[in-house]
Amino acid sequence: MLLQPYIDIHKHGTEHDNDVLTIYSKYDTFQTLLPEKQYSIGIHPWYIQDFESQFNDLKESINQPNIIAIGECGLDALRGVSLELQAETFRMQILLANECNKPLIIHCVRAFPQTLSLLKQAKVPVIFHGFNKKLSVAEDILKQGYYLSFGADLLKEHAAAYAVFSAVPVKQIFFETDDSMVDIKEIYKAGGRIRKTAEDAIILQVQENFKTVFNI
Ligand SMILES: [Zn+2]
Repeated sequence: MLLQPYIDIHKHGTEHDNDVLTIYSKYDTFQTLLPEKQYSIGIHPWYIQDFESQFNDLKESINQPNIIAIGECGLDALRGVSLELQAETFRMQILLANECNKPLIIHCVRAFPQTLSLLKQAKVPVIFHGFNKKLSVAEDILKQGYYLSFGADLLKEHAAAYAVFSAVPVKQIFFETDDSMVDIKEIYKAGGRIRKTAEDAIILQVQENFKTVFNI
């Protein structure tokens, strides 16, 4: 896989930029993926409906070479079906990730202890996407060796992500646009400003992190 300068680890939508290696995130219609793009696919905790058929769809598609991660998956205490069903759906996806040796991209809202507890079964790299919580939550995740991905919240000086970002080891960071309209390059720039680090150094480090997680 050719590494472009910028990496967007988690994006919904279809925009394309030649300078950006984008991991497009899909939670349904796994059969319609484009061969030239890279994806993460998974059952999103908001959209669990018919778990068995969704899981079968996921299993049938997961071995395509351009599907490089499972997710977003995880727990959301504010939205979606019961936490029991969310947890079972998440657990099955962790086991599937172990089986096919693909990293996990995690959605987690107000359920960090339960999510970390389920993740003890994971034998693959783990990225918490859209991180915007305080330092103690970040530390609980980081000490497991997991990664934090930061998005458009880095552009907001009052956001928790902004305050935490400097304290996160650079070897454990990624950037993402998720569903925002912000350019990933603006998020990298903000990251450089907050850490008082040259943007080039951040670009290179995120590329290294990507190689480590995706084993390329
Ligand atoms: Zn997302």
